[in-house]
Amino acid sequence: MEPLKLYFIHYPTAGHMIPLCDIATLFASRGHHATIITTPVNAQIIRKSIPSLRLHTVPFPSQELGLPDGIESLSSLIDDIRHFPKVYHAISMLQPPIEQFVEQHPPDCIVADFLFPWVHDLANKLNIPSVAFNGFSLFAICAIRAVNLESSDSFHIPSIPHPISLNATPPKELTQYLKLMLESQLKSHAIIINNFAELDGQDYIRHYEKTTGHKTWHLGPASLISCRTAQEKAERGMKSAVSMQDCVSWLDSKRVNSVLYICFGSLCHFPDEQLYEIACGMEASGHEFIWVVPEKKGKEHESEEEKEKWLPRGFEERNAEKGMIIRGWAPQVIILGHPAVGAFITHCGWNSTVEAVSEGVPMLTWPVHGEQFYNEKLITEVRGIGVEVGAAEWTTTGFGERYQMLTRDSIQKAVRRLMDGADQALEIRRRAKHFQEKAKQAVRVGGSSHNNLTALIHDLIRLRDAKLPSPDTPKG
Ligand code: UDP
Repeated sequence: MEPLKLYFIHYPTAGHMIPLCDIATLFASRGHHATIITTPVNAQIIRKSIPSLRLHTVPFPSQELGLPDGIESLSSLIDDIRHFPKVYHAISMLQPPIEQFVEQHPPDCIVADFLFPWVHDLANKLNIPSVAFNGFSLFAICAIRAVNLESSDSFHIPSIPHPISLNATPPKELTQYLKLMLESQLKSHAIIINNFAELDGQDYIRHYEKTTGHKTWHLGPASLISCRTAQEKAERGMKSAVSMQDCVSWLDSKRVNSVLYICFGSLCHFPDEQLYEIACGMEASGHEFIWVVPEKKGKEHESEEEKEKWLPRGFEERNAEKGMIIRGWAPQVIILGHPAVGAFITHCGWNSTVEAVSEGVPMLTWPVHGEQFYNEKLITEVRGIGVEVGAAEWTTTGFGERYQMLTRDSIQKAVRRLMDGADQALEIRRRAKHFQEKAKQAVRVGGSSHNNLTALIHDLIRLRDAKLPSPDTPKG
């Protein structure tokens, strides 16, 4: 059998690029030719964490748009959101050079992020299938599709298998945009989800396929599938700000399930006042922690005065034994995989969620933006593997003056609910371990994600071979 030639086109932000590159390695591990289409700076990052992948680069128009050198991803802007519009513009300018390359060297199939809907038209033009990579859970996809923007209680979503009431009202513009992208992905042959079927549940798979007529392939969790070294895992997405060994030896000195890991993904940068409340809440809870804060915090030249805006005076000295603050990128999957980590305060980004599930770590949910408020409900009410911290504001363009902060009190209370060993916490922990087991089974030979990959590959080969002239067809 002739191997498939596949192109993978990622959206330039860590939360989209990391799982799609992992999925590409899956196809490569079955002997197919997988090429990632990326930009120069992202190519350097991918090479470090997945050296075996083939890459094709197209230029990122930083200079034309007056962007600082090295900015080729929304995730590189964690401390400087002024550049967001320019990066979005630059991303839209990637279309022509990518189209040109694909037209000149057409593959058998294109797998592209669902935020690039133009890829499906390109694939149609070339008469090849496109598969949309959707970085959300299927649960969130079903919920977004079901949101009724005309209704005054659009936070209440009745028509999905588990009716839910969100803790914040979905912003109208964002929801309209996501609905449009989800509609556009129906032009593709199918969608790939970075999850395993057991976590979304067959009821959601049936619901989606029945209401759209579109096929889903659960191939994840992406963080579990690629076989690579711990160091390569630590470099996923960006260069880690700490040495993986330092992190691991610090965790080695802690008791099982005693440490809280706190990280809000690659795009969320809370105001100083909110960081201050987190610090106070953590200190009051008395638990040990690893806390990831954006890079600017703690830069060498940060004055004591600046620091005290986000960190109580003497915090680091008092918590020298108890806590580790990572300023910048953390080796997240390595940390979550350590037995000392007992809970994860998370913004419910889908990758972080599925990474926590893969390691059996229960979650304290604190959604901020995007589709995170939907994921919160999957984690807490539907699967029972986390508790809510109490976030009630769905931010879209940063944290305005009227941002409703979560207080140290609500943070401390939520931490205690999960860490203090009461019956409810034990049950949540038990369920988290149950889903970890299911995740591991899914990616093993004969597991649901493993079988799905086999079936998807057969399907793509069938489509390719159906186009080839049969040996009996007369030529000319
Ligand atoms: N991540 C990491 N270190 C960090 C922050 C994030 O490795 O310090 C990784 C995390 O493991 C996940 C991705 O970045 O794979 C973040 O994706 P997610 O969907 O959770 O959130 P987003 O950044 O898209 O909001």
